[in-house]
This record gives sequence, C-alpha cells and structure tokens, in this order.
Amino acid sequence: MKVGIIGAGQLGRMLALAGYPLGIEPLFLDRTNDTPGAQVGESLIGDISDAARIAELGSQVDVVTFDWENVPSRALARVPADKIRPCARALEVSQDRVHEKTLFRLLEIPTVEFAAVDSRADLDRALADIGLPAVLKTRRLGYDGKGQAVLRKRDDVDAAWRKLEGSPLVVEDFVPFEREVSLIGVRGIGGDIAHYPLVENLHSGGILRYSRAPYRDAALQRLAERHMREVLRHFDYVGVLAIEFFVVRGRLIANEMAPRVHNSGHWTIEGAATSQFENHLRAITGLGLGATAVRGHAAMINFIGRLPAMAGALAEPDLHFHDYGKTPRPGRKLGHCTLIAPTAARRDARLRALMRGFRRQGVEL
Ligand code: AMP
Repeated sequence: MKVGIIGAGQLGRMLALAGYPLGIEPLFLDRTNDTPGAQVGESLIGDISDAARIAELGSQVDVVTFDWENVPSRALARVPADKIRPCARALEVSQDRVHEKTLFRLLEIPTVEFAAVDSRADLDRALADIGLPAVLKTRRLGYDGKGQAVLRKRDDVDAAWRKLEGSPLVVEDFVPFEREVSLIGVRGIGGDIAHYPLVENLHSGGILRYSRAPYRDAALQRLAERHMREVLRHFDYVGVLAIEFFVVRGRLIANEMAPRVHNSGHWTIEGAATSQFENHLRAITGLGLGATAVRGHAAMINFIGRLPAMAGALAEPDLHFHDYGKTPRPGRKLGHCTLIAPTAARRDARLRALMRGFRRQGVEL
C-alpha cells in the first residue's frame, strides 16, 4: 500500500514512521527535499498547491492524505475524490475560521462569539457587539498564534488593525478559559469511530508548550465525543480529526479543528495502545481502527527553537525523545519528548522537574 502525504513536516514524518511496520510506503509532496519527511521517505518536489503535481502524486499512490491542511481544494480537483482522505470539503472548512465556526454553530457545538471582518467599519461594528477583550485573527493560514492580536483596550485596536489589515479577518470574544483541552477522534471507511481521552494543553504565545493525558472528566469526555461524532459524520470523514476546546465553567467551547493528526496527540505514540499516526493510516487504508486505550499517564513537551541535550534525561524510565531533523530557528518546533508515569501526580512531578532541567539548558518552553 502506498500513501501520498501532502506536506513533509514532522506530522508527515511521524505518519511515515508509523506506516512502515504496517507495510505502508509513504510518498511525500513538498517544495524542497530539506524536510523532516524526506529524511524517512521519498518525496516528489513541487508546490503543495500545484494541481498537476498533486495529480501526479495521486497517480502514484493508493490514497492521498495531509500533513498540512491548507491545500487549496481546487488543487485537489484532479485526484479522484474517493482517493482523498479526509475529504477535500473537511479541509476547506477548517482552512477558514469563519467557515469552521459556522459549522460548529450549525452542528450545535458551542463556539465563541465571532464576526467576519473585511473593513475597519466591520471591526468597529463587531467590537460594539462583542466588546473587549477580543481577539482579531486572520481567517486563513494562522497557526501557532501567528496572524493574531489580542485587543484588551480601545488603544490596541488601531495597532492590531494595522498589523493584520489586508487579509480577511475574524474577530472573536476573548474567552476567559480555565483550561484548554483537545479531543482526537478517528473514523474508519465503514463509519466506525474511536476516540482518545481528552488531552489538556498549555499554550504560550499561541504555541502548544505541553500536553497531559488523560484529562479525566467523564461529563466533558462524553460531551466532546458527541461533538466529535457530529463533525465526523457531517463530512463522512475518514481519518484522524482533532478538535480544540476551551473549558469555561465546566462547559466546552470549540475553538478550532484540524483535519489531520495533531500536536496534542503526539503522546499517543508511547502512551496509547495505537498511536494517532497508526490509527490515521489504518483508517485511510481500510485496515480497521486500533484500540485507543491509554498506558498510564502521559505528558508531552514540545521543543521550540532549540533541542535540549537529552542524554541525562533519557536515563529516566519511560521517557521518549523525538527529533524532527529540522534546522533550529526561533519559534520552530524541532522535536518533543513524552514521559509516561503510573499516576497523574508522579507524571506532574516529573514533568515539572524535566521542564526545570530543560529551561536551565536555555530551551524555550
Ligand atoms: P488558535 O490559533 O485559534 O488555536 O489560537 C492559539 C491560542 O491562542 C489558543 O490555543 C488560545 O490559547 C489562544 N486563543 C485563541 N483564541 C482565543 C480566544 N477567542 N479567547 C482566548 N484565547 C484565545
């Protein structure tokens, strides 16, 4: 079985690595050969929005999937729709924050108050409605907090507008959340669905710093699974989908979804019976879903800008290191580590100690 992966970043690389034991051969499409994916699998070189290149990829593989969701759907038009998993429509909706939140509303999934902003007058009108604080974001191509500005007071509005004007924007209510959680679900070709437990995520500067799983709250888990099922069924979705939520006074508010494997699911490589990467491949190749049961209590730490020396830390039991093979650059995700502990309390204590050690090495966490 051959799987075409559009984008050869770290997600593609981890998909490829999960595929080899299953006899799945990856073929990436990316702009250069200097990618995390190209170090572990073959690549076609080309623009990831080039329909001819994507058609070529499609003709060489059994199924096409994504490391990056921002592929324009017109670029997928020359690949038979049943070869694209998840479907182009799911990508299209998740590329645009307004479409995404409109879908959440349609499916009765609580989401933030929001308004599309195409002009300064739109912004002023929306702020009169929503009030401050608020968050102004680009509708498209925002990731890791890029293309966002928090509006805390009237004086912030001009600067935020100057920074972001020119792109279609959305303004949202600023949610005073207690925590952020995400749910990773997977749906097979026959419609079977599996979920991992909720993950608690800590972001700073818009970038995920660490995740802990399982986040146990039976009522929230049930609710998140219900929301996930709605979205999966809506698209007749095949593969892994992640939905990020804010938790506010015991309620879930959907922030966004990612139609792909997700950073907050990296812990599943060592922390679950079947990783999100293997389950995505199993889903899209029709192999049937694997169990999502967890092994102990996991924490995943992202390494951003710089990788720590791991030799000392790796002497610890059940600590696992992943280096994505990227050239270091400030703000760039270069790798992660996952620790597994028998109890949540021991995991949290080890997490704190590990982070102290990494910070002493000058790693941005
Ligand atoms: P996003 O790109 O929408 O996932 O935003 C990145 C991070 O910024 C989120 O994980 C939150 O920590 C924060 N954030 C985004 N939108 C809001 C909001 N409406 N209210 C409060 N915090 C937000």
